[in-house]
Amino acid sequence: DKPIHIVGGGLAGSEAAWQIASRGVPVVLHEMRPVRGTDAHKTDGLAELVCSNSFRSDDAETNAVGVIHAEMRLAGSLIMRSADANQVPAGGALAVDREGFSAAVTRALEEHPLITIERGEIEGLPPEDWGDTIVATGPLTAPALAEGIREATGQNALAFFDAIAPIVHFDSVDMKTAWFQSRYDKVGPGGTGKDYINCPLDKETYDRFVAALVEGDRTQFKDWEGTPYFDGCLPIEVMAERGPETLRHGPMKPMGLTNAHDPEVKPYAVVQLRQDNALGTLYNMVGFQTKLRYGEQAAIFRMIPGLQNAEFARLGGLHRNTYLDSPRLLDATLRLKSLNRLRFAGQITGCEGYVESAAVGLMAGRFAAAERLGEEVSAPPATTAMGALLGHITGGHLAHEEDGGKRSFQPMNVNFGLFPPLEPGAIVRPEGIKRFRGKDKAIAKKKALSARALNDFRAWLLGEAGSIAAE
Ligand code: FAD
Repeated sequence: DKPIHIVGGGLAGSEAAWQIASRGVPVVLHEMRPVRGTDAHKTDGLAELVCSNSFRSDDAETNAVGVIHAEMRLAGSLIMRSADANQVPAGGALAVDREGFSAAVTRALEEHPLITIERGEIEGLPPEDWGDTIVATGPLTAPALAEGIREATGQNALAFFDAIAPIVHFDSVDMKTAWFQSRYDKVGPGGTGKDYINCPLDKETYDRFVAALVEGDRTQFKDWEGTPYFDGCLPIEVMAERGPETLRHGPMKPMGLTNAHDPEVKPYAVVQLRQDNALGTLYNMVGFQTKLRYGEQAAIFRMIPGLQNAEFARLGGLHRNTYLDSPRLLDATLRLKSLNRLRFAGQITGCEGYVESAAVGLMAGRFAAAERLGEEVSAPPATTAMGALLGHITGGHLAHEEDGGKRSFQPMNVNFGLFPPLEPGAIVRPEGIKRFRGKDKAIAKKKALSARALNDFRAWLLGEAGSIAAE
């Protein structure tokens, strides 16, 4: 039997190898360490955790990452099995002994009769005679392979030092203060003239806000000094430092906007938020890329009227990353549209985090195995955590033409904002609660989204031919 090749034995590649071999299909897993290292890895173990040892919340009732844990366990995940077996106390989070975890993954793969592990760097695109190949080489993909992918996809660049803007959950924005309006009511393609959320600032609030940005920037480490910014997008605090008026003439300009709640008073400055996903559950802060510390970001951005209770699906940050413009380049089962023999998995597809990378590896492995076995390849439904994540990667994202062709697809952790809305009546009022709103309602909503996800995931597993679901 011809094996399926996998390049990269990290979180995604290890899980993909396990899933494929579990379906009876042979695998060759190529890992360059220890022959060649990366800037972050320190060992030659498979699935090495390069930074924190946390898989984040394990709460499968009210947390999207907990839901994806549960789905992975249902699908027989090696990463989850090894994490569970090497757990260390961490409250509601799933944290692991990193060495024990990596050793467990390495051992399971080494001992599997259908898996061969080859150590060495794959330089350039995987050779054609390998046939079906999964590329799971992560954010620190070795340069020769990155260059091969860049050429094959026609991308200008694959690796970025990126300053990214925060993303807010729509239902946490105070729409009694903010309003919908496009600048000058402009109706763009597919638009209504009311495409943006606008948050007004008076002079006093603006001055305090700019001062907080400048102050916040001074208190942080200067690790990133001299780093070139992607597409010249300057962090907001760097703009603030250039002078008090810079932001008011840049991303916070108030022109062409009238406060719907108070048309007589002209806002001194305005923060705009733009829809970030097709569902309209997430909005990003336009022009607000930042490298401020996480804790400071939340506090400073909540000074903006309308965002005083904002919940962030993702905070801004500056990080180095190698990833594809997946919504344009990959098909619905993660294959490169222009070169079907290559499938991608892990952070290189534009997900973010250990758990998400492993989850995308799990899906890629199952898709590749099904394809090899001549079965129909089916993706998890959009209502599941895995399906929602896959949707973000392969298409749920809105391309913004006004970005002038700049890549606007950004990596993201799994979160409830990526899930389709609930059906009417799906949120259940818990017994004994009289005034059902606010926090109680938000928790009930998360519970309903989680329950629907796990239900639909079980049904998907059962429907998959020859499923290896193990409950
Ligand atoms: P990796 O786990 O990096 O696996 C890729 C593998 O491919 C590596 O083993 C590498 O050696 C190998 N490889 C690369 N090129 C080649 C080649 N040409 N030939 C053969 N092998 C190759 N996420 C979190 O959830 N929490 C964190 O704390 C966290 N911290 C991070 C810190 C840093 C510095 C970075 C860069 C990322 C961090 N991430 C974190 C994000 C991300 O989730 C992890 O990087 C995750 O390991 C990605 O999984 P992956 O399988 O896609 O890639």
